[in-house]
This record gives sequence, C-alpha cells and structure tokens, in this order.
Amino acid sequence: MLIGVPKEIKVHEYRVGLTPDAVRELVHHGHAVLVETGAGGGMGADDAAYAASGARIAPDAASVFAAAEMIVKVKEPQPVECRMLRPGQLLFTYLHLAPDPAQARLLMDSGCTAIAYETVTDAHGGLPLLAPMSEVAGRMAIQVGAAALQKSGGGRGVLLGGVPGVAAGDVVILGGGTVGTHAARMAVGLGARVAILDKSLPRLRQLDELFGGRVSTQYATLQATEAAVTHADLVVGAVLVPGAAAPKLVRRDHLARMRPGSVVVDVAIDQGGCFETSRPTTHEEPTYIVDGVVHYCVANMPGAVARTSTYALNNATLPFTLALANKGWQRACADDAHLRAGLNVHAGRITHAAVAQALGLPY
Ligand code: NAD
Repeated sequence: MLIGVPKEIKVHEYRVGLTPDAVRELVHHGHAVLVETGAGGGMGADDAAYAASGARIAPDAASVFAAAEMIVKVKEPQPVECRMLRPGQLLFTYLHLAPDPAQARLLMDSGCTAIAYETVTDAHGGLPLLAPMSEVAGRMAIQVGAAALQKSGGGRGVLLGGVPGVAAGDVVILGGGTVGTHAARMAVGLGARVAILDKSLPRLRQLDELFGGRVSTQYATLQATEAAVTHADLVVGAVLVPGAAAPKLVRRDHLARMRPGSVVVDVAIDQGGCFETSRPTTHEEPTYIVDGVVHYCVANMPGAVARTSTYALNNATLPFTLALANKGWQRACADDAHLRAGLNVHAGRITHAAVAQALGLPY
C-alpha cells in the first residue's frame, strides 16, 4: 500500500503521523511511504532521516493526498485537507468528530473512509490510542506545576521535593486514572508528599498496591476533596467521566482557602476542566492567577513535547497502521473488533453510533 504522511498544519502542532522508525517498519513489510517535505521538522526528524528509513519525500501536501491510498496524521484534517481527500481513500488520525459537525460534513462529502484514533478500543475497556497522550500529560503536569510553584512562575516558592530539614511539597491528584497515575509517579520521584482521590474504590486499591504505601489514597467525597485541595501546594485535575463534561470538583470559594501562590494544573481542561475557575490556555501563555492561585490549563499539553509525544503515539498506532496496510481496512476491521470501533466515516455516512448520536445524524 502507498501510505502518505502530510505535514500537520494546525496551529502549533509539531507532531507527525509516522516517525522514521515507523516508516522503516512499513517499508520492511513491503509498503511505500510518501512523506511531505519538512513533516517531521517540528519533532526533530528531517527529510534525510525519513529518506534513510525508506520514505520518498513529496514537495507538498497536495502530492501526498493525490497519491496515497492511506493518509496517516495526528490532528483532525483541516478544511483544506478534507477537500483533498477522495472516495475510497483511508484516513487514520485523531478526529474528535462529536463536537465538530463541520468536519464531519466535509469528511462525509469527501467519500473517504476515516478511522479515528480516539475511538479504537482494547480488551480492558480502555482507549489505547488516547492512553499515550494521557501518560505524557500526566507526567508533564508535575513538571509544569513544579515550575509554576517557583516565584518566577507566580507560585509560593516551594520546592516539591523539599530538602533535608524542610518539608516536601503537598501534591493532590484528583482522579487516579492514566493521567493521575503518571502524575503520581513523577511527584513521588521528585520526593513530594502525594495524595490521590478517586471515586472508584477498585482503582484506589490498585493504586495502593502500585505505590506500596508511598502515595495516600482517598475516596473522593466532597469533604475529602475540599480538605485535600485547601492544604495542597499543587493540585492536578485528572478526572474523566466518559462522554461527559468534567465535574466541577473545586469551586471558586475553595480557592480563597488555598494558600496564596499554590498551583492548580487542570489536565481535564479538554473536557471543560474540574475547577470552576479553569479556562483553556495555550503554551504561549499557559498560566493565569485567580484569587492568588496559579492556574495552568493548556488543552494540548503533549504538543509541548512533540518528540516524546510522536514516538509515544507511534508505539500505540503502529500495530494498527501495519494491519490496515497489510490487510486493507475491511479485512483489518473484520479481524479486529477494537480497530472496527475506530471506524467513524465510510461512504458518506457516520459509522460510529455514539458519534452519529452526538452529531444528530443517522447511523
Ligand atoms: P481515565 O479514565 O484513565 O481516569 C479518570 C479517573 O477519574 C478515573 O479513575 C475515574 O474513576 C476518576 N473520576 C471520575 N469522576 C471522579 C470524581 N468526581 N472524583 C474523583 N475521581 C473521579 O482518564 P485519563 O486518561 O486519566 O484522562 C483524564 C483527563 O485528562 C481527561 O479529561 C482527558 O481528556 C484529559 N487529558 C488532557 C490532556 C491535555 O493535554 N490537557 C491530555 C491527555 C488527557
């Protein structure tokens, strides 16, 4: 199969659909890969690296879209990209169609077949192509939170790990799923005192075992959440209620009881955020202050570490990309119900029940 990798054109997107390593795997399996010039520049892979892996370099996106049987990307196609897709062409990328009727219409009109990373499932009820980005965001949350706690970041001047003779900082993590677990790992690694609150008792049991008592686990009642948040130096918002907006766990009046210069990192901002005072920010201006509390609410945190994120994403997508290339999408989806769950658009129709329902379209 001829696989095309265009350069991402969404503002400040530096990731790329395939790494040179992934290209080499595909070429090894007998496929041809066409990469737009400069596609990997933002994450440190130049054209020479792709050529060395066996790719051909295309001068522009139009040549990639015109030639490729399958397009592999990261972000949802922008309107100009949607218009280059054609009937029978396969698109494999993040789509997030439910809140985006305009993109859904363009994809349906194109006649392409689109498989969305975010709705591919696994045998444990998870979303394996979303998990790597949650791992990145969770680990980053502590890094950015630690920087914001410094005076120069607007914080109260606390070193999370403390030093001998001075207490470590208190990190409170709301939600102990993928983001929360990876945030906890980093916070423990820095020597902070860490508490995780979750509504799921089985999850708290797993976390207790995983961290061997190094992390305090608490059932997330209103009272426990309020008490933990108001004593924290750094609070990480990492809750998810699938298919719903994030619950507002921290109200504005809680902020007044937090210590001035404490920090909240609301990773759940892409689902609306779990602090009443959260609003989306960008990597250019990631923080703002409300009632003395520093807020970090960047909705695409993994974009800041494009190289790590691209490799993490490719590790998860590559087996599916290979299956699609080796077998064609019909056989690959027939053989694997979890990949089939990723099918969002085919022949002018939405083919995913929940996405169709969210868009008010027939399924
Ligand atoms: P997850 O499903 O693995 O974990 C969510 C956890 O929240 C679960 O353990 C669940 O039991 C818990 N929870 C639900 N309601 C709760 C409540 N009221 N109180 C306490 N805990 C509660 O999800 P995840 O992959 O860790 O993702 C968490 C959030 O981070 C999601 O909103 C996701 O979209 C977001 N995210 C954001 C970025 C970013 O760049 N900002 C990147 C990746 C993920």
